Amino acid sequence: MSWTWLRPLLAWVACAGGAAIGYGLGAWVGHPVWMAAAGVSGVVLMLGTHDAVHAHRFIRWLRGPRTVALGDAPGLWSEVFFRAERKLKALEHDLLQEREQRSQFLSAIEASPNGVLLLDESDQIEWCNRVAAEHFGLDVQRDILQRITNLVRVPAFVAYLQGGTWTEPVVVEGRDAASSLSVLVRRYGQDRKIVLSMDITERQRGEAMRRDFVANVSHEIRTPLTVLAGFIETMENLPLTETERQRVLLLMRQQTDRMHVLVADLLTLAQLEGSPRPSLDRWNRLSPLLQRIEADGCTLSAGRHTLAFPADLPVEVAGVEAEILSAVGNLVNNAVRYTPAGGRIEVSWVDHGAGYAALEVRDNGIGIAREHLPRLTERFYRVDGSRSRETGGTGLGLAIVKHVMQRHGGELEVESEPGKGSCFRLVFPSARVRPTTAVQAVPNTFDDRAITR
Ligand code: ADP
Repeated sequence: MSWTWLRPLLAWVACAGGAAIGYGLGAWVGHPVWMAAAGVSGVVLMLGTHDAVHAHRFIRWLRGPRTVALGDAPGLWSEVFFRAERKLKALEHDLLQEREQRSQFLSAIEASPNGVLLLDESDQIEWCNRVAAEHFGLDVQRDILQRITNLVRVPAFVAYLQGGTWTEPVVVEGRDAASSLSVLVRRYGQDRKIVLSMDITERQRGEAMRRDFVANVSHEIRTPLTVLAGFIETMENLPLTETERQRVLLLMRQQTDRMHVLVADLLTLAQLEGSPRPSLDRWNRLSPLLQRIEADGCTLSAGRHTLAFPADLPVEVAGVEAEILSAVGNLVNNAVRYTPAGGRIEVSWVDHGAGYAALEVRDNGIGIAREHLPRLTERFYRVDGSRSRETGGTGLGLAIVKHVMQRHGGELEVESEPGKGSCFRLVFPSARVRPTTAVQAVPNTFDDRAITR
């Protein structure tokens, strides 16, 4: 049952009571004017008390958490309570919505892969996302309201921020000297600034590698071209005997062969970079593949080495046959070229179980000093440049091998000791290795792209 009617009734009873008390007091004094005045002031007193009670209730409600409704009030107070409640509810709803929008907006900036930093008019940090904190070495909580230039003292950044000309981004050193950031400042609001940062370390490294690569290729091609130009000039200007002419032609052929191998290796690398990841269901039997490599190795060695290959290897590897052939072929080619005559080159399959299976190419050749090992797979990296070139090397062989193994989810392991020999291991992931099935694998003609060397 609702008791809302009770309060106005009580208020009016109180007013009437007040008037009656006033009138009674007037009667006690014994004068009609005093009686009337006392009655009126009684009413006014009661009405005042009634208003004060409701005003107090209203203020208490406003100050409190406003979790309960104001409830009913008599007369005008009912209207005041109703409108105040409605207005406040609307304001609180708007405020909540604004807060929600703001937090969503900040979470969106937080999720940005780039750094975002908001500065006030005194360059104090108002807000920054985690990426910016990482870029500039800031603490998202602790450094709020700190002046950015007190925390980030990189001279290029400070000069750029204070310079006020922000049409182009500036490249500054990141937290550690090896990293680079591209920083852009924009003005917004009333002299506030937004600082956007992007880590460009990888991009810069890539650009440097590309520059080095082009310089190396140019250098590699220029040498045989210069030699060829010299021979052409010789043939044009000098009367040569037939023997001399044959000798010059042979040397010219060697230079063109060298360029041919270089271009072929470059094309192989480009092909590897642009191809999709080798599929897991194209199985290649290793035995026939190794037979082809053994034949090439024997031709290259020309009887100067002992080559030992497994007689029959009942193993299949999933991937691109031409790439696997190229990787193993490169290792055998290197073993022959870097092993003096009389040396031994042995190819074997190693399966330690527990998912470790590898094809191993071991030689007892010149070996490689420890400090060179981490750089062997860099393009054009050679331990001994002249020996590599003399034996027809391009400096790209191991880069190709590494690339092939990465694409097949495997890796290249190297062990070597100067004067004792080297062991190069192609480690395949277990998902790409299986024993040869009874049914012959379908010849892998589709993937058999021309990969030289
Ligand atoms: P290259 O065409 O010069 O042989 P690679 O990329 O195949 O280029 O090899 C890089 C370098 O690693 C070679 O220049 C050589 O110094 C060294 N190297 C590779 N294989 C062997 C090996 N089996 N024995 C000794 N050194 C090797």
